[in-house]
Amino acid sequence: NTSEDSDPEETLRPRPPVVTIMGHVDHGKTSLLDALRGTDVVKGEAGGITQHIGAYQITTKAKDKITFLDTPGHAAFSEMRARGANVTDIVILVVAADDGIMPQTIEAINHTKAAGVPMIVAINKCDKPEANPQKVRERLLEHDIMVEAMSGEVQDVELSAKTGAGIDKLLEAIALQAELLELKARPDRDAEATVIEAQLDKGRGPVATVLVTRGTLKRGDNFVVGTQSGRVRALVDHKGQQLKEAGPSMPVEVLGLSGVPSAGDSFTVVENEQRAREVAEYRQEMATEKRTALAPT
Ligand code: GDP
Repeated sequence: NTSEDSDPEETLRPRPPVVTIMGHVDHGKTSLLDALRGTDVVKGEAGGITQHIGAYQITTKAKDKITFLDTPGHAAFSEMRARGANVTDIVILVVAADDGIMPQTIEAINHTKAAGVPMIVAINKCDKPEANPQKVRERLLEHDIMVEAMSGEVQDVELSAKTGAGIDKLLEAIALQAELLELKARPDRDAEATVIEAQLDKGRGPVATVLVTRGTLKRGDNFVVGTQSGRVRALVDHKGQQLKEAGPSMPVEVLGLSGVPSAGDSFTVVENEQRAREVAEYRQEMATEKRTALAPT
């Protein structure tokens, strides 16, 4: 398994952070993802159609690149983690300032702690007259989260996904946290990636959104994903634009699969078509053996 070995230190280069947004239902996860997407300073070319591909990368005014997993909800996060795919570097915990700490807020805190991922608290809906951000900070103490405003170390940002107030501050907080993490990956090697989501598209066939974890994924690359092999026919970003290649932390849609993989599957580029088929066949045999072993006699 190639994903266990590590690349030599001198081949590593900085890579953008991968951020997941969690929080209680209706506290503003989707609104925040939309507001953040809107801050991208790199405009798409005419003709590209913005689409939901499960993840997107923006470039901020300060020229920082940030990748957001566009799969709000805790199921995706814990399912991926259960499968050994720890793709998230930073969690943004959204708490509505009018509603405060709710059951799914606590669930999100527990998921984040279990994953050992640093957290930034986004106190949302601060435009509302009944907003009480200070109460949110105090209640977080009960869950061992001490934010900076309470002399702790967890960054907290007051914002409104609706008006856009505070969004720039959140981007700065992410950039600062990413700097502390010193995130790196080797770009000049065959790519390894993780499937974020996949579906059967009416016109295009099986399509998977993958997040490149190391190396650079290129059009024409032979790959194995799950128990299937394939060849990259096209790479498409969330703006609907075709890419020639995608480096570390870049999310892209991959066309050229023979079936629909599962979220959390590892996606590995191999040297040629024959090798891709061999690895896929081997994995199919292993899966069959496992099923046979488990079958009742
Ligand atoms: P999610 O369930 O966490 O994804 O929450 P949504 O993003 O769908 O937001 C739930 C509701 O809260 C929607 O009606 C939003 O318009 C509203 N909302 C989200 N953010 C804000 C905000 O900053 N201020 C106000 N006033 N409403 C917001």
